[in-house]
Amino acid sequence: MKIHPIYTHNSLRNFTYLIELSDASCLVLDPWDDKQVNEALQQHQLNLSVIINTHEHWDHTQGNQALVDQHQCEVWAHANGEGKIPCLTRSLTAHESIPLENNIELKVLDTPGHTFAHLCFVVFEQGQAKAVFTGDTLFNAGVGNCHNGGDPAVLYQTITEQFHSLPDDVIVYPGHDYLENNLRFTLDLEASNGMAAQWLEKAVIADPANNPLLTTIGDEHQFNTFFRLKNPEIRTTLGLPDSSEKDIFLALRARRNSW
Ligand SMILES: [Zn+2]
Repeated sequence: MKIHPIYTHNSLRNFTYLIELSDASCLVLDPWDDKQVNEALQQHQLNLSVIINTHEHWDHTQGNQALVDQHQCEVWAHANGEGKIPCLTRSLTAHESIPLENNIELKVLDTPGHTFAHLCFVVFEQGQAKAVFTGDTLFNAGVGNCHNGGDPAVLYQTITEQFHSLPDDVIVYPGHDYLENNLRFTLDLEASNGMAAQWLEKAVIADPANNPLLTTIGDEHQFNTFFRLKNPEIRTTLGLPDSSEKDIFLALRARRNSW
């Protein structure tokens, strides 16, 4: 299996992903533009069999209809996406494991918070978690907003219960490239975070189209403020030294909204 990130060159900085299997079939996650997906399919000589949508927002589903028309592929997503996700053919459920090929499976996480029809997907190779597709739930150095049908208290539960505990070497494949801005937010809250400063230098010159920077869950523990809820410097900056971790998360989310 190979994962090919496709940067979509739009102002929202979306990523679409191709998941290439050894029999030359492939899945596409969150197709933004059918033409761009078709070019990538041709480039890698792949046949599209399945579209997966992490959630129902248009910037993650607008390629569905044209790709279904052209490839007669299936569309998999959250059951709550019914009526909102174009051409949905299969509702996935939490903890479901989908075999992709020999020793490789996708485990479905039900991850409400950004919306209530949001799924994330952990790639397991030989029983080991290797990568996670996080849609708009977890970003590099940040988390999703809750403006369009979400709830920050629910997002807190999802992030702490399902992402803080993933193994450190799991690679994060998010729905958008927000790394640079998010690192600036981290440094605004925690000026002494040397790891965030180092990554910011790399992020400023990185080209998401040709060589997107990939972080791991271990990296997120180092510089994602939403993973660092106990950190005294972040708490001092917020003026909330003794608040609960949940209240710190909510304060961070509110601050990021207007930052
Ligand atoms: Zn999005």
